[in-house]
Amino acid sequence: MKLTTQVKLIISREDKQSLLETMEQFNEVCNGISKSAFEYKVFRQYDIHQMLYHPIRDCFDLSAQLVVRAISKVADSYKLDIKKIRKFREHGAITYDSRILTWKDEEVSIWAIGGRKKFSYLCGERQKEQLKFQKGESDLIYKNGDFFLYTTCEVPEKEPVPVEQYLGVDLGITNIATDSLEKIYSGSHISSVRIRNLKLRAKLQSKGTKSAKNLLKKRSKKERRFAKDINHQISKKIVETAQRHSVGIALENLKGIRSRVTVRKGLRYQLHSWAFNDLAGKIWYKARKEGIEVILVDPRYTSQECSSCGHTKKSNRKSQSLFSCQSCGYTVHADINAACVISSRAAVNRPNVVGEQSPNYKPLPLGRGG
Ligand SMILES: [Zn+2]
Repeated sequence: MKLTTQVKLIISREDKQSLLETMEQFNEVCNGISKSAFEYKVFRQYDIHQMLYHPIRDCFDLSAQLVVRAISKVADSYKLDIKKIRKFREHGAITYDSRILTWKDEEVSIWAIGGRKKFSYLCGERQKEQLKFQKGESDLIYKNGDFFLYTTCEVPEKEPVPVEQYLGVDLGITNIATDSLEKIYSGSHISSVRIRNLKLRAKLQSKGTKSAKNLLKKRSKKERRFAKDINHQISKKIVETAQRHSVGIALENLKGIRSRVTVRKGLRYQLHSWAFNDLAGKIWYKARKEGIEVILVDPRYTSQECSSCGHTKKSNRKSQSLFSCQSCGYTVHADINAACVISSRAAVNRPNVVGEQSPNYKPLPLGRGG
């Protein structure tokens, strides 16, 4: 599977300056190319190259490869339409290919004005693992004073084993995940931490001072790290369970999960949808690596349908945790019922399958710079 892996460069003040200069010059060149392209109505990459490659090489310190990159960036930007002139941010991203950026051991070597530079980088264990399969281009991105690289890795996966049954997994707030084998991954302690943090956040936000903002940022970072760690443990257990029982994994499609979160807006919503997305992504990634099929099912009425007889009614759901079927009397924990509905939808109702994978579920980094 193709994944985008993100690392943060460890960089000295001096090297930072040199990378910034490279970026600035690169984008300046892009703006220059864009202006000429627009003025002379020359938009094809080949034609722009013919017209501008040598003049640019003569006037700027950029390497040949980066000039080619700049031309290609501009040509791409005009593909949608040619009605408006394109402008590029001073610190917009640079896409490097393997000729001007190489990954080796725990270092990355990047071409910059004034010569190539080597950097170490920070990333998690999973990213390190993925980087062994790095392939192709890498985007250099400047964000909040730091440099990041986003790169494509083609991680090998085992051939999915055909299965007839699926472990249904219901994602929730009180219980982070519940599977159709009745295992509940409780989130009660996490919820209380979150609520405490939310309260603190509201307080800090009303203050609005700089130090309050900084503290706020720190807290939310810490909280995400915490949620990520919990999600890592839960996803690992879910994938192990599916493996042990030789079944696939079924999840609701993300949009469904979102609509079921009763708090719609604000921080609370953002946090939960982020955490759901992260957990679903981790399950997807770990399962695919092990050759376990993951499918997404139609999320409609999973909380109201009886997993025993199929009767669907709003009043079947008695409370947050209790499901009791009005038709057959089957009574069970509401999340377990939902997980079983998801499981049977995956197995029986294949046309309901939304797709083998959802782009939403890929652990893509947010905010790739333009
Ligand atoms: Zn029933």
